[in-house]
Amino acid sequence: MDIVLRGVRIDDERPLVDIGVESGRIVEIAETIEGRGDEEIEAGGRVALPGFVEPHLHLEKAFLHRRLPARTGTLEEAIRVTGVLKAQQEREDVLERSRRVLDMAVRNGTTLIRAHPDVDPIQGLIGVETAVELRKEYQDLLDLQIVAFPQEGILKAAGVDDLMEQALDMGADVVGGCPYNELSWDDTKAHIDKVFDLAARRGLPIDMHVDFADDADDRRFASARYIAEKTIETGYQGRVALGHVTSLGALSPDEAKPVIDLLRRADIHIVTLPATDVYLGGRKDEARPRRGLTPVRALHEAGVNVAYSSNNIRNAFTPFGRADPLQIGNLLAHLVQFGTPDQQAEILKMGTVNAARVVGVSDDYGLAVGKQADIVILDTLTVADALLDLPARSWVLKRGRVTVVTTVESRVCRGCGENHSLKAPQAAPR
Ligand SMILES: [Zn+2]
Repeated sequence: MDIVLRGVRIDDERPLVDIGVESGRIVEIAETIEGRGDEEIEAGGRVALPGFVEPHLHLEKAFLHRRLPARTGTLEEAIRVTGVLKAQQEREDVLERSRRVLDMAVRNGTTLIRAHPDVDPIQGLIGVETAVELRKEYQDLLDLQIVAFPQEGILKAAGVDDLMEQALDMGADVVGGCPYNELSWDDTKAHIDKVFDLAARRGLPIDMHVDFADDADDRRFASARYIAEKTIETGYQGRVALGHVTSLGALSPDEAKPVIDLLRRADIHIVTLPATDVYLGGRKDEARPRRGLTPVRALHEAGVNVAYSSNNIRNAFTPFGRADPLQIGNLLAHLVQFGTPDQQAEILKMGTVNAARVVGVSDDYGLAVGKQADIVILDTLTVADALLDLPARSWVLKRGRVTVVTTVESRVCRGCGENHSLKAPQAAPR
């Protein structure tokens, strides 16, 4: 075997296991694997999870937070400020900021990212072009899926039909949509129809930004039902993901239930983006501001596949972020009040197996024999502590190759009399 990981915790109720890896796959999981691997890693009882999956990240808009700071913090302002900056996008700068995000993600144990570069008349195809380049550059570290995302609308913005075709020709492998950013409900429906037509013609999955508002009074922000019907009608069950869907959270349970039932029947994946949704949501509420999240609990209880992701990293939409699925999972757990052991385990699933379903890699994913060896080993000893400790990612493996080793040393000094000096902090990566 190429690598044997010794003494790994994959289940708090069961003994530690060894994991054998060969030719990029998990070939054995047993309490003791006989024989030695070419490389032996003593995990010392640390926890292993399958590599994190970020189904919704924006690379080319990351790290713009200091260029043109947002003042009020509304969605409208974020779109406007980012629009100004998007018009100035320059290749080397986009690559540099995207690499900062990807490096963070790799270090945090993410082994697959679905990036959503904007495709619009403002920045053209630079987001797709750079993502295609980075997909190759990072191929040994993570898999990168690329969504052609028409952030400024399709009908509203001239030339986007053509740009979408070009983006897919260049190598984008998912059809995106932003149906709320149109001028009328008829145009929103036409936008959705175009997305489905394009996806069907190209045989590609769909991943749209949808219903991103505090309420669903304006029909452009209540398109989930229409999308679910369209999904069933076109046989696209299991191949449609929707990000945000916050308007649904504003409906009464009676109003939301039929929509949620339809989403489940359509096997639509919901990706909640808590860092952005909570930051921008409820801004106009003077008293008791809404949390502005999709109804995660109701969706989960109805059997809808729910995952979460970082969305933006440090820009007007989301001023925080370190591309860390454990940090976002911890935030989400607080916001949706998932605190019991079972609920915390569910949050970990949302960042791993559920997210893998969103991006269509379930067959090859997970800690099981035969699956691709995408593994993150956390510096903690019980799975139940993963969201509590937010531990260092001691090792990360991508396709059976070690891509990250993290050591963190810390001690409490009570007059230890030793030298307290440290090495200078590592320079920010690139
Ligand atoms: Zn997004």
